[in-house]
Amino acid sequence: MADPPFRVLPRVTPQNEHFWRGGEQGRLQFLRCKSCGTWIHPPSPICPGCYRKELEVAAVSGHGTVVTFTLNHQPWVPAPDHPYAIAIVELDEQRGLRLTTNIVNCPAESVAIGMRVRVIFEQRDDVWLPLFEPSGAP
Ligand SMILES: [Zn+2]
Repeated sequence: MADPPFRVLPRVTPQNEHFWRGGEQGRLQFLRCKSCGTWIHPPSPICPGCYRKELEVAAVSGHGTVVTFTLNHQPWVPAPDHPYAIAIVELDEQRGLRLTTNIVNCPAESVAIGMRVRVIFEQRDDVWLPLFEPSGAP
C-alpha cells in the first residue's frame, strides 16, 4: 500500500481539539451557542450571533455541499495523488458554516459545485482530519 499523501497537521489546542479529535468517535464537532443555536467556526469564545459566551460542543450530521473548489495539479509535496480537489464545503446545518477540505474517493475531475458530500475522517497521529466524499444525495 502506498504511503498516504503528505499533510501539514494542525496545532491542536484546548480551544479546537473538539474539532480535530471528534473524528475518533466519527463526529464532526463544532462549538454551538446554547442560547441562539448558532454554529461557530473557527472556534471563538463568543457567539457571533448573540454575543453570549455560553457555548457547547455539538456534532453536525456531516452532510454538506461543495460551494467552490480548485484542482491542484502542482506537486508541492511528493504525493501520488495528483491532481486533487481542494474545496470549500458548506454544512447542511447552517448557511456560512464552511470548511476548507479535500474531496476524496472520487476522480478529482468529477468534483463540481453543488455536489453533495459527507464527511469522512483521516487519522494522522492524534488528529482526525475531516475530508469529504460524494454522498450521492440529491
Ligand atoms: Zn448565540
